[in-house]
Amino acid sequence: APAPEAPKGFLNRLLGRNSAAPVVRRELDDDMLEQLEELLIASDMGVDTALRVTANIAEGRYGKKVSVQEIKELLAQEIARIMEPVARPLPLYPKTPQVVLVVGVNGSGKTTTIGKLASQFKAAGKHVVIAAGDTFRAAAVEQLQVWGDRAGVPVLTAPEGSDPASLAFDAMTRAQAEGADLLMIDTAGRLQNRQDLMEELAKIVRVIRKKDPDAPHNTLLVLDATTGQNAISQTETFQKLADVSGLVMTKLDGTAKGGVLVALADKFGLPIHAIGVGEQIDDLAPFDPEEFAAALTG
Ligand code: GDP
Repeated sequence: APAPEAPKGFLNRLLGRNSAAPVVRRELDDDMLEQLEELLIASDMGVDTALRVTANIAEGRYGKKVSVQEIKELLAQEIARIMEPVARPLPLYPKTPQVVLVVGVNGSGKTTTIGKLASQFKAAGKHVVIAAGDTFRAAAVEQLQVWGDRAGVPVLTAPEGSDPASLAFDAMTRAQAEGADLLMIDTAGRLQNRQDLMEELAKIVRVIRKKDPDAPHNTLLVLDATTGQNAISQTETFQKLADVSGLVMTKLDGTAKGGVLVALADKFGLPIHAIGVGEQIDDLAPFDPEEFAAALTG
């Protein structure tokens, strides 16, 4: 069963009896620790991470008097500490074109994220090319073209149902010929047939390596924060399908499930390159651990 949604600022509910007075101190006992664990699990932090974070907070403080305010601060510190090592923007390499393969299940926000990234890099003066590699979804290709137009970046497409690897090869050829800085390749997200998807991704990689043995330089996995713990299983799956090098977490606006990011950082240690905070072209932000921890703990 899915965990119950924790409202934003969920820690305000901790110590319900004293919630009107966050500075009132109470003994840090088993009851309080259990409440804390439950709240963290409800935020989708995952049981293992929630237990460890709670244990760290209890260490040296068990049986002593603490206030909700102090617990919040300690929790924010714990979370920021877990998140700091993974907060890293997409690295840019001197060798161009840098090839970024973008993977993730359909609906996770791949198309939108590619559009937002393209816009950011374009604004930074980079020459960007996009390849609409999900050739089986006409709607995805159309959508990517809309984003490309918005960002002022060319989108290479191929007829519906054609070989994505062949499109990727053409895109590499064009990106190299144009001296592009960045080539972003969208891919299919049909997890229903993993074997097909694995072969498709492997073929794309094989083909672009004919043009550059170091490509792809990044394999970005796009995850939807609102799916909570599913983001964990998706990461496991995509690590088997591709050589995932970093994450973008979308839809962090208006979800109480953001705790899954802590679980991801704790479990996989993959860099979080950016977060999606809305549907508009500018709604992609660098991941800031302290801001995130403050928002999560309310
Ligand atoms: P794809 O199938 O993985 O390419 O997913 P799309 O890019 O088409 O995104 C699926 C839906 O999620 C669309 O309605 C997007 O507008 C929406 N979306 C993507 N990123 C975000 C985000 O960061 N916040 C919000 N609120 N919506 C997003």
